[in-house]
Amino acid sequence: MTSTDRSYAELHLHLGGAVLPRILYSYLQRRKVDKSNDEAHKLALSYLRKYPVYEKFERKLTKPCDTLTKYLEAHKVVEPLQRQEALAYFVYRLLRGAFTFENIAYLELRYNPYFRIPKGLSPNEARAQMEEIVQTVALAARAASKEFPIVFTQILCMDSRLDKATNQLILETAVEMPKEVCAIDLAGPDEAYRENEDCIVELYKLAKEKGLKTTGHCFETGDAYFPRILEFLDRIGHGIQIPLKYPKLLTQVAQRRQCLEVCPTTYFRTGTVKSYNELKPVFGHCFDMGVDIAICTDNSAFHGVRLPLEFERLLTHGVLDFRQMEKCREAAFRHAFRWPGQIDQRRSVI
Ligand SMILES: [Zn+2]
Repeated sequence: MTSTDRSYAELHLHLGGAVLPRILYSYLQRRKVDKSNDEAHKLALSYLRKYPVYEKFERKLTKPCDTLTKYLEAHKVVEPLQRQEALAYFVYRLLRGAFTFENIAYLELRYNPYFRIPKGLSPNEARAQMEEIVQTVALAARAASKEFPIVFTQILCMDSRLDKATNQLILETAVEMPKEVCAIDLAGPDEAYRENEDCIVELYKLAKEKGLKTTGHCFETGDAYFPRILEFLDRIGHGIQIPLKYPKLLTQVAQRRQCLEVCPTTYFRTGTVKSYNELKPVFGHCFDMGVDIAICTDNSAFHGVRLPLEFERLLTHGVLDFRQMEKCREAAFRHAFRWPGQIDQRRSVI
């Protein structure tokens, strides 16, 4: 397997924000007429009552916010729709888009399986249902790979708002399914990180003891300062505040060879940065210190910005030149948890 000189690796994409609003809405309309699954049918009706026209639904999912917490609300709208019976429909379509419009050769898709199972289950039931979700996503991706040959793997997200036992169930699901799952992640609002930091550190410690690869949303917003979590991460989800506010930490980031997963459009949507100019020092300091950056989309379907356009915008706004752009493209393949092949370097002629 070789990446081609036109292909990309996407390391940070949430299932919740990877399915275009139009595809979610057409799923609702299908479920409205299909009564084979009563629960899914009723859920579709309730959504369509709330969002009788597509534009209203789209606005809800794509509107810019001024905080990370508000930004995360869109996921709450999508997650109930992404139950097991719907996953094959969504996974096929998101892979089709990634292959056709983004030239993705490698994709790590992340999501919280606990948010996609019914509430009120016992721990054993929850664990079994989460395993089914992971299995369904894996099988759907394998089936789609005949048409859209993308190397695909999954990252399971824990959430700062969940209690330790529930996050541990997610972690154990990842441990039990090494073929399907390449790593564990942590997401959620900063306030909950602060409240639960001790538990989070223990969970990451456990993840490393179990031999899991780790990434984690960390140092994303101006308020995020979690150096205790940082040391357990193989890659850092966002991490832009490290070069911006805590550049001294870059030394240890460089020593640990941690890669930053930088998702530019997200920072505008969450009100974290206002202009591309503010992102220049992120790349500048990291390049100076030898810290790799993988450019990612985070929630491309909410943003309406696919991965090649993230690169192009960084270029046209003078954040990166062509050579640096290629450096980031290659870094994504190098820091991928499961990329099996060579990294094509033909772009180095640029
Ligand atoms: Zn993210």
